[in-house]
Amino acid sequence: MLLLALPHDEYYRNVESILVYPSTVVRPERKPGFFERLDSVVEAPVPILGQAFVQGPVVLVWDAVLHGARHPEQGHNVVYHEFAHKLDMLDGSANGTPPLVDREQLAEWVAVCSREFLRLRSLSEKGHKTFIDAYGAQSEAEFFAVITEEFFDRPLALQKHAPDLYNVLGSYYRQDPAGRHANRTSTLKK
Ligand SMILES: [Zn+2]
Repeated sequence: MLLLALPHDEYYRNVESILVYPSTVVRPERKPGFFERLDSVVEAPVPILGQAFVQGPVVLVWDAVLHGARHPEQGHNVVYHEFAHKLDMLDGSANGTPPLVDREQLAEWVAVCSREFLRLRSLSEKGHKTFIDAYGAQSEAEFFAVITEEFFDRPLALQKHAPDLYNVLGSYYRQDPAGRHANRTSTLKK
């Protein structure tokens, strides 16, 4: 879905493998190595629905994949989410900005995304309910992954709530999913 309109340029060249687990996985606790100092960070075990690694695999939890595919109206799709991270990581780091075609597109992207990201962060810090999932306020990288889910799952609603955001995503993905939805609805009504 994400690559449908993009020129074929091995966008997933850094997807070495896709590991599919049947159900929610708990990332094992990372034990400190023998030579590691004890004050180093130890990651606690946390349940995950998916994960994307820089220069590594994508991990997906199959029941979450099915649920997201069956309920686009909920705006959560772990496949779109993790593969958006992979597109973001194409330039080597997950910073919420995938490689863009030119400086103009980059300037527009940065202006719109940073404004909307800061708005989401401020609203979610105040405990307000937001159309875009508050998980996107964690970082610019999560923001891009979360708005990608909305762009493909609930394009009409995203277009209504954040038209500028819809437009920069449309120019990046070269797709107009809101137009597709509107066409489908008008065809059904005939
Ligand atoms: Zn993520």
